[in-house]
Amino acid sequence: MVQEFFNISLRDRNSFGIEARAAQLVEFDDTESLRDYLNTHPTGNRRTEVIGGGNNILFTRDFDGVLLHPVGRAFRITGETADAVTVHAEAGLPWDDFVRSCAGHGLWGAENLTAIPGTVGAAPVQNIGAYGAEAADIIESVETLDLHTLKQTVIAGCHCSFGYRDSIFKGVLKGRVVITGVNFRLSRHPRPNLGYGALAQETAALGDPTLEHISEAVRRIRSSKLPDPATLGNAGSFFKNPLVARATAEALQRDYPDMPSYATDSPDLIKIPAGWLIEKAGWKGTTRNRAGVYEHQALILVNRGGATGADIIALAEAVIADVRAKFGIEISPEVNIW
Ligand code: FAD
Ligand code: NAP
Repeated sequence: MVQEFFNISLRDRNSFGIEARAAQLVEFDDTESLRDYLNTHPTGNRRTEVIGGGNNILFTRDFDGVLLHPVGRAFRITGETADAVTVHAEAGLPWDDFVRSCAGHGLWGAENLTAIPGTVGAAPVQNIGAYGAEAADIIESVETLDLHTLKQTVIAGCHCSFGYRDSIFKGVLKGRVVITGVNFRLSRHPRPNLGYGALAQETAALGDPTLEHISEAVRRIRSSKLPDPATLGNAGSFFKNPLVARATAEALQRDYPDMPSYATDSPDLIKIPAGWLIEKAGWKGTTRNRAGVYEHQALILVNRGGATGADIIALAEAVIADVRAKFGIEISPEVNIW
């Protein structure tokens, strides 16, 4: 089924709570309906994008095109072997409902990604990650519909170019396909991933590292540190953590011995928490116009009330310039700016 809306407010459809309008928004509950709709209502040269929960989008102007919004929420176990259980989830299923369903079926793999806002369909786009896990670890394949050819394709996870908060859907397939469903590969065998210190401690405080305890520990840490978009508009981490050359990190460490840094998959690249750089530069807790840097985590920009996209961008640009001037490091937005 398809439902169309025209000149619709997006204020309740983006976690920053920014007032913007979309010329057209089309909700669809399955691939066939969307394909039939696009066949009979070609979008032509109008800008066409997909919006899930709007938790990673900053609107800087009205959207003068067509927004497609998946609402199908099915979760289905599709296969089981001695090693793995495969699950199909529709794009419109809220990510945290997916994680809860996995836990409810005793399936390991998604627990560190508990309580990340958004939909299943958006998870592969930036390869959502938290506490040392990322969606790519459990994605077997991604089902897509090409917006131009209306052809359905299943893209194997190994062909999704997954990287640190990155994928083919932010690259060559950006604006080309709608993700209509995702196939996951999970496990019934316990495999706690407690490499992040805070998670290990919080889980230990609850008892054994069971699925339920790890999920609950993540929920507790997140609710104590992250702003709830329902009360304070935000899109999570506004910036990506920069990956810098080892020599750059070592030089900075000599000037700032307290600077945290983490190894990456590449021996030459070191991850530096952008939140630390922004806090050290003095931005934590500050407000400019109606936009602010969150007081408990400097990586998060917030809407203090009535901010426009331009207010948030002006603050982000000032932060980027200051971090560049003070540390010689370029930080860039993780959030999609529309
Ligand atoms: P949207 O914001 O609607 O869309 C994001 C992008 O994906 C857009 O480019 C959109 O076009 C595209 N897209 C969405 N759905 C589809 C689809 N079906 N097909 C094709 N393209 C699509 N992210 C993390 O990685 N880790 C975290 O721990 C984390 N914590 C957060 C905490 C808070 C409080 C908030 C507000 C955000 C957080 N985020 C985190 C960011 C956000 O949760 C993720 O980016 C999430 O995947 C966004 O899902 P969404 O459905 O809201 O996507
Ligand atoms: P945190 O634990 O205070 O850590 C700060 C940063 O240091 C994180 O960004 C994390 O990188 C890095 N880090 C910490 N311990 C690490 C380790 N053992 N190995 C490698 N890197 C390490 O971060 P937080 O703000 O409370 O967030 C906790 C987790 O939730 C993080 O994984 C974060 O990515 C995720 N999160 C993401 C968003 C988003 O919008 N993208 C929003 C909120 C939280 P990584 O970010 O690479 O993990």
